[in-house]
Amino acid sequence: MNWKPLLEGKDASAAIIAAQRLAGLAVTTLADRARTSTHPGSVGLAGGLAGAVVHDQYVAAYHGKRNREARSRLELLAQRVTSDPAISPSLFTGHSGALWALARTSPTHAMTVDGLRNALVDGLTGGVDRPTEHEFDLIRGMAGVVQLARVLISTSSTRRNHCRSAGWLVDSLDPAGYWRTPVRSSRRAVIPSVADEYYVDWGIAHGCSGAAATLVRYAADLGNRTAATTILTSVTSALDRHSTRDDEHPRPAVRLPRFSGPKGVEHERSFAWCYGEAGVGAAIGLCWLSAGRPAEATRWLEIALAGIKRGLQAGDRLMPGLCHGAAGLLMIAARLFNATEDERFLTLGQQLADALTGIAHDHTALVRRTGYGLLEGALGVTLALSLAASDVEPTWDSVFCLS
Ligand SMILES: [Zn+2]
Repeated sequence: MNWKPLLEGKDASAAIIAAQRLAGLAVTTLADRARTSTHPGSVGLAGGLAGAVVHDQYVAAYHGKRNREARSRLELLAQRVTSDPAISPSLFTGHSGALWALARTSPTHAMTVDGLRNALVDGLTGGVDRPTEHEFDLIRGMAGVVQLARVLISTSSTRRNHCRSAGWLVDSLDPAGYWRTPVRSSRRAVIPSVADEYYVDWGIAHGCSGAAATLVRYAADLGNRTAATTILTSVTSALDRHSTRDDEHPRPAVRLPRFSGPKGVEHERSFAWCYGEAGVGAAIGLCWLSAGRPAEATRWLEIALAGIKRGLQAGDRLMPGLCHGAAGLLMIAARLFNATEDERFLTLGQQLADALTGIAHDHTALVRRTGYGLLEGALGVTLALSLAASDVEPTWDSVFCLS
């Protein structure tokens, strides 16, 4: 795809300079930690080395080659992934995300961890026969494993046509069109469909929207448009049933649910990627667009637009990072502008990029507030500034359910 940056001229240069200086600091710090720490998080996508490797690959796509430090970070990631004895399925803090970064950067490296990746996409070493041990969500559960499977389908010469983790996700979708989150489990380690007490989380990060968008994209990647549209229709209508009219904000005149359950429905009041209308509206709207159904996409894109606007209006209350901050909204605005050419996304994205360029200049304050990682910290800020100012498509945003 021909990626259209949001910024040009002086604004683009300022954003790139701010991003590069901050990236140097973040990537070096994350690699140093991964060399000295045995903590699984030190290699994870959210706050560890895998995030640095994703950034390295994006920069390499821009410059056409990978430098020596980037190659050594890649080697270190491959070594750390294979040496960790306990397999964690988490996309953002565990093996799925580390393998995801490895596979999309260097399929040959990922081949060396064949057993591990097969165990993951096959449902965690036979774990599908013991389904009580799984969670469904994007951050920690099976939806995250399916994101890994999507990369393996696109990079592996031996195309896998079947993925048990995706099968588990389909099987655990309630006929009403949602996945349940068990109440009595802090780790949600109970199969949602057999939990007798549950609530429904509608967000991207831990809820139905993220799992649905992942499954829809997975089915579409395999060329199964019918399955993709069926899943999308089911989850979209469940979301609709729990939405409400919003009289405060006439456009859009709907409020998406945040949580629902026996005690009722709590509606969105946030503006983040992880739990906000910007993230849900964008993921669902983009799924409808990719299914060739622009008429269905429109209202979801309007919901996303309203979410981004509310984020901008929040001023200093808006965090800087990708997960629940300005960088996340900028990433969404840029993707939606590229998908729709709607100039309202361009204008909002430019305002976010301008604010973020200022924030990125004060390294000390930024890092103190957010840390160095990709999901919430400095590295996410540099990635967002780069995608706003360069013409290289940020394909890594698939992990945020945006492509
Ligand atoms: Zn968040």
